[in-house]
Amino acid sequence: MKPIVILGAGPAGAAVALGLRRLGYPVTLVSEWRRFAALEGVSARVLDALRGAGLHQALTDAAQPSQRQVSWNGQRHAQNIEFLLDRPSFDRGLREDLRLAGVELIEGRVLTVQSHASGHRIELEGREAVLADFLVDARGRQAPALGKGLRGPETVSLLNRWRGASGITASAVESLGDGWAWMARRADGQCYWQWTVDVASAGLPGKALLLDHCRQRRQDSPLAREFFGSEPETGLHLHARSSTAILCPHVCGDNWIRVGDAAMAVDPLSGNGIFQSLSSALQAPAVVNTLLRKPERALLAQRFHQRRVEQLFLRFARIGRDFYADEQRWPDQPFWLARRQWPDAEVAHAEVDYATLRVERAPVLRDGFVEEAEVVITADQPLGIWHLQGVELAPLVRRLRSEPAERVLEGLTVDQGRMVRSWLSGQGFKP
Ligand code: FAD
Repeated sequence: MKPIVILGAGPAGAAVALGLRRLGYPVTLVSEWRRFAALEGVSARVLDALRGAGLHQALTDAAQPSQRQVSWNGQRHAQNIEFLLDRPSFDRGLREDLRLAGVELIEGRVLTVQSHASGHRIELEGREAVLADFLVDARGRQAPALGKGLRGPETVSLLNRWRGASGITASAVESLGDGWAWMARRADGQCYWQWTVDVASAGLPGKALLLDHCRQRRQDSPLAREFFGSEPETGLHLHARSSTAILCPHVCGDNWIRVGDAAMAVDPLSGNGIFQSLSSALQAPAVVNTLLRKPERALLAQRFHQRRVEQLFLRFARIGRDFYADEQRWPDQPFWLARRQWPDAEVAHAEVDYATLRVERAPVLRDGFVEEAEVVITADQPLGIWHLQGVELAPLVRRLRSEPAERVLEGLTVDQGRMVRSWLSGQGFKP
């Protein structure tokens, strides 16, 4: 019986494994290799988060900076720098990080998992089954569904990859009448065109004709023609991936947890999938630690993880909806119609209003455990804010109801005072 087994060696599984090793747990990780060579774009913030999680090897050689062009709603502009992550080398680096952290790695395909209150039996292809006390499921979008969760409009992304002439690294995103395309070219000449469409309305041809259909669509786009030039293509491959936004209905139990895309998978338009998968993974070691070492707090720990995952998912779904709504040339096309309305009509960022601030008890993380503390609930942070760089906000907000600000803030250092005043004024506080 292994104490903790993680399924899946993507960024989420790797971040949880390293976090659990830091807390002193022996960790076994079971994963197969990803079956296709994807390229993904991430921001500098994601690279920082990966470094922060200790995933240094994963970044060696894997990230190339690229100036990104955006063509949306008929307007073209060169936006920010994105970093192109070559997933095969990134995934290889993750494994090296795991090895260096002393994680036991089992390479194999998980066939089934039977779970009971006393533990889990993990059946592997062509190998002996593995038994685990605690299970972390980080199998990404391939993790089995756990009942009816929240799903966005069904979406598929067709990744076309080929070799063209070498040139400068570049990437671009473009809206189209029936979807959008992300394209990239690496200095070594590898080219990628990823076309994301609506499953119900795309009317895609069968497999035999799909490559030609994609090529035709690519050549219909002036931006793609300009981007890739007219060099001959060699070794054209096509890989279809579901990219529907999915929130799993349950993400934590007494002896298991789901992280990363297995818990919530966001629309790739956000370009934030890896960041989101890390966000749920970075909090998981403290949740697991609480479930194992302080089982009397199990419900609190589960609530913490469940609510954070739901909150993160909805926030990103609404930001995505607003971005889709910015494209106004094809409001009645099924692709755009469905996505500009999902998941709901609530604002992505609620207006600040100091009068609505509340103090409540809520789960927070302290010293590797989940515990309960007083937090300040704001319209934009419904899960609450506990402290600002060590200064607890709830006692200050409570006192500000009846005492002058000067007196409430007088015990703080100059820097703390400046930081808290700036936060208060951002919340609409008027002394
Ligand atoms: P994954 O990275 O998917 O890792 C899961 C691991 O589990 C893999 O190693 C897999 O081999 C293993 N596994 C799965 N099933 C089994 C099994 N049965 N047995 C053993 N092992 C198994 N994010 C970005 O930040 N930028 C982008 O540009 C971007 N583009 C995207 C484009 C598309 C079309 C899609 C679908 C996603 C994109 N993403 C992007 C999202 C990003 O790929 C994921 O959010 C991220 O990889 C999730 O990390 P993870 O660790 O949860 O899962």
